Amino acid sequence: MRALSAADLLSVWERGRDQGPVQQAIELLAAASLTQSREDLVRLTIGQRDAALLTLREATFGPQMWSVLECPCCSSRLELSFAVSDLRVKHTGSPPEEIVYEGADYALRIRPPSSADIAATLEAGPEQSANMLFHRCVVSATHCGEPAAELPKGIMEEASKRIGEADPQADVQLRVACACCQHEWSVLFDIVSFFWNEIESWAARLLGEVHALASVYGWNERDILSLSPVRRQFYLEAARA
Ligand SMILES: [Zn+2]
Repeated sequence: MRALSAADLLSVWERGRDQGPVQQAIELLAAASLTQSREDLVRLTIGQRDAALLTLREATFGPQMWSVLECPCCSSRLELSFAVSDLRVKHTGSPPEEIVYEGADYALRIRPPSSADIAATLEAGPEQSANMLFHRCVVSATHCGEPAAELPKGIMEEASKRIGEADPQADVQLRVACACCQHEWSVLFDIVSFFWNEIESWAARLLGEVHALASVYGWNERDILSLSPVRRQFYLEAARA
């Protein structure tokens, strides 16, 4: 994984802006990955993908993150600050390729979902896609030793829980407390939408800076993007003085 230059990140933003989050995540990782092909990246589990995105986010914009939330209880606006390290799940190595789940005479071999699995189920509605995703991740299922065509809802829910435990980075909850009313709650943290929103704002600001510098100095885009952020800021301030 390498840090992305301003020009690289702009190219990723341009390619990904009309795509969905599954593809945006792959665009980001493909641009930064030194050893893994796109085929490798789409087969990462969602937890592995999100761990790699956290690393890339830290290399790109630094270790600190900011967000704004509304308290569901008193509607106060909360400004949150947290570190990338707060979002990393402490775990011991990679998620297992397969998990064995046994209960109520059922035996399932299942695997954590990947980007390829999610992409394949996106066309279906929200309820159906969750069902399709689960079935895609069932490697084998038996009931009393015979192949099971149908699985009871309770078995699917328990097996899904086991998948979540096996790939914990895929489900990161941020614990939030409201300073006004002391209400506490958890919010799901989605690194893909968080990082992509940051990239959207960054790209709009950067292109504005390129426009300002090109207008004043007549430099081309490539030269302006190759300036370090410190130099770019210096010239911008000089141009505005
Ligand atoms: Zn509140």
